[in-house]
Amino acid sequence: MGMIAENLSKIVERIEAAAQRAGRRAGEVRLMVVTKTQPRDLVGEAYSAGARLFGENRIGEAEEKYRGFHDDAELHMIGHLQRNKAGRAAALVRCVQSIDKTETAAALEKHCSSAGRSLDLLLEVNTSGEASKEGFHSDEELFTSLEEILAMEHLRPRGLMTVAALTDDKKEIRRCFRRLVALREAVRSRYRLEGFDELSMGMTSDFEIAIEEGSTLVRVGTAVFGPRPSP
Ligand SMILES: *Cc1c(COP(=O)(O)O)cnc(C)c1O
Repeated sequence: MGMIAENLSKIVERIEAAAQRAGRRAGEVRLMVVTKTQPRDLVGEAYSAGARLFGENRIGEAEEKYRGFHDDAELHMIGHLQRNKAGRAAALVRCVQSIDKTETAAALEKHCSSAGRSLDLLLEVNTSGEASKEGFHSDEELFTSLEEILAMEHLRPRGLMTVAALTDDKKEIRRCFRRLVALREAVRSRYRLEGFDELSMGMTSDFEIAIEEGSTLVRVGTAVFGPRPSP
């Protein structure tokens, strides 16, 4: 077995163990392989080892790797998306996880509408309060933007995404994930939204905590490929 296949199977075991600790089924948690900065042949290796859900944070890099990639692979955009690249994203990915402005969603809606297709979205929330992080800061900003997005016919808001605080303090990390769970519940009851289920939370350093708190999708790069080459 190659190193990537071995790493993936270890991650799957850790996902199963974390789910079990929380009284959840491992099937409730999807594993996304984050391939930013990794070359196409390693992405292919992850696919061969069984990975089907992939994440990228730059559209140009995503196009290079995923145009003409396997039909049954699902790609999500997880990095900040500039409005002028919305058309390219809409043509390439199944879901944009990093929506934190109505304007970005509006640009995606325009492109999806003319292409006659629809797109899943997650709204990104800044749960840590760190200035360097993307995402909605306040609940009110999130609600206002979601109301505008709900009027856009070709976009389907499916849930929330966050990057937890960058810290070794597990309590602080857990607090970020709990905030996301609480916000999803608030959105569901306020708007009676069906299918607003996704909680994209947890990365290499904190995905087990995220699963214990209710994550439905963990985004893992380093634990699959090893440390990323520095830019
Ligand atoms: C890079 C990245 C990840 C993966 O991070 P690792 O620590 O390598 O697992 C997850 N989510 C987002 C938004 C990222 O940019």
